[in-house]
Amino acid sequence: MGAHNSLEIQNSFISNFLSQTIYNNQELPSYSEIYSSDGLRIAHSSNLVESQNNPLLHSERIVIDQAIKIKQTRYLDNCLLLTTLEPCTLCMGSILKSRIAKVIYFLPNDNGDGISYLPIEWIYQLNHFPVLELVENKEIFSQWKTFFMDKR
Ligand SMILES: [Zn+2]
Repeated sequence: MGAHNSLEIQNSFISNFLSQTIYNNQELPSYSEIYSSDGLRIAHSSNLVESQNNPLLHSERIVIDQAIKIKQTRYLDNCLLLTTLEPCTLCMGSILKSRIAKVIYFLPNDNGDGISYLPIEWIYQLNHFPVLELVENKEIFSQWKTFFMDKR
């Protein structure tokens, strides 16, 4: 798990996100990557809600699906998920079921439906709960701000 603490992974995630062409459609600038325990990126995706017209295609769920297929394992208990925005409750279900070890996100979910809002009593009853880490980042914040300002 040592590689997971690396700032290199965070920095490469941020530059991968910033180099995405996220304004080619109305897609939310949600972007996710999964790294295996050896520090290799095994999955990456943006949201595909608008382009596929499917409200379930959040980037976190897409990369979890990809990673399970690629690793050919049932659980991702050695894997690190990075995502721009704190995962919503829909994605939280996928994160818990796939037993991802750790989630790093760069923007808090202020709507009250993020993974960090789960009551502590629930967390204690679960067999597995990932380490959550919020790393605030100005560049990612400004991308989101620009996206929502453009929408007005
Ligand atoms: Zn989600």
